[in-house]
Amino acid sequence: MSRLDLKIPAEQVPALEFAGLKAQQSALGDQIAARMNAVLRHGHYIMGPEIAELESALARHCGARHAIGVSSGTDALAAALMVLGVGPGDAVFVPSFTFPATAEAAQLIGAEPVFVDVDPHLFTLDPAHLQDRIDDVNLRGRLRPSIVLAVDLFGQPADYEAIARIADAHAMTVIADAAQSLGASLNGAAVGTLAPITATSFFPAKPLGCFGDGGALFTDDDQWAEDLRSIRAHGKGNDKYEIVRLGLNARLDSLQAAVLLAKLPALAGEIAARQRVADIYDAGLADLVATPRRRPGARSAWAQYSILVDGRDRVRDRLNAQDIPNAVYYPRPMHLQPAYARFGEGEGSLPVSERLCADILSLPMHGYMSERAAGHVVAAVRSALGA
Ligand SMILES: *Cc1c(COP(=O)(O)O)cnc(C)c1O
Repeated sequence: MSRLDLKIPAEQVPALEFAGLKAQQSALGDQIAARMNAVLRHGHYIMGPEIAELESALARHCGARHAIGVSSGTDALAAALMVLGVGPGDAVFVPSFTFPATAEAAQLIGAEPVFVDVDPHLFTLDPAHLQDRIDDVNLRGRLRPSIVLAVDLFGQPADYEAIARIADAHAMTVIADAAQSLGASLNGAAVGTLAPITATSFFPAKPLGCFGDGGALFTDDDQWAEDLRSIRAHGKGNDKYEIVRLGLNARLDSLQAAVLLAKLPALAGEIAARQRVADIYDAGLADLVATPRRRPGARSAWAQYSILVDGRDRVRDRLNAQDIPNAVYYPRPMHLQPAYARFGEGEGSLPVSERLCADILSLPMHGYMSERAAGHVVAAVRSALGA
């Protein structure tokens, strides 16, 4: 019998990778192949035994009562909004400085995104501005403030304590967009338990990634968990062809669950290694550029390490010339995107998000980076900045 061989020989792993996927596959390829082979043997490609096994492993990992595997982070967000009964007339408050899927999910289910600015140092939703925006919406009276969709940008949990206080005062529900933060924590509580419903993504480059699209939801609410399992399978009831609600085709594939089962045991160690890289970057760069601040009590998953630099394009050219991988997350705030501008108030309305989009620059970050490689990046950034 032929076998999957997923192990990348160490000598074929580039010295400097942006997200470390080849290095990870070199380390974990054998376990991943064994798990994938098991799926190929039993042939239950949809809702095979790997799904329930992964769901209980994920729930245990986070300390959440339920984990529900779904087809992507975007579908996880849409399903979370659907299970809460959100629709036309509802306002969903989202940060403007985020990946497009956050606002997209709100619009997909017929609600309206309301863009909120972010903290200039922590990059997550600014609670004071959230309060202002809720007051605006109430004053105009056209939409009902319903949901706060907070994003754990770059892997650091949002300020859930302050956000929950505001949401509670307005009878709103908080959804955590934890696409970048699985494995992070806030005051000792893991991501997955920081909001009533949490959505995450297993896109390959996220802290826990599969070999394609995938995602999951976390909740402690038994009814929501049951309904989310129905929503991901076309709104099924007690059997497959009893349809009790509008649903989606949003299941996680058995093969992707197999990949995740092989990678999950390594996640905590990988995040600890990312933290060491972040410490090296901090120590080597803090005198020259704005390095990412840490929220007190938070442990980031370090999906990205992002600095703020003046004259970013010139710095990028110099990094590219030295073969230092780098990326801009995100070049344009949501309220200035052509597809979303009609929900916003134009240029100048969310100044922090706008400035971050102009200056942000993400450096290589993953759990398989040597101290030497991190030191090399520091030296290259310093020389790119003319230091
Ligand atoms: C990646 C990402 C998503 C979407 O996840 P997909 O699995 O790609 O659909 C949503 N929100 C944020 C903040 C993300 O980074």
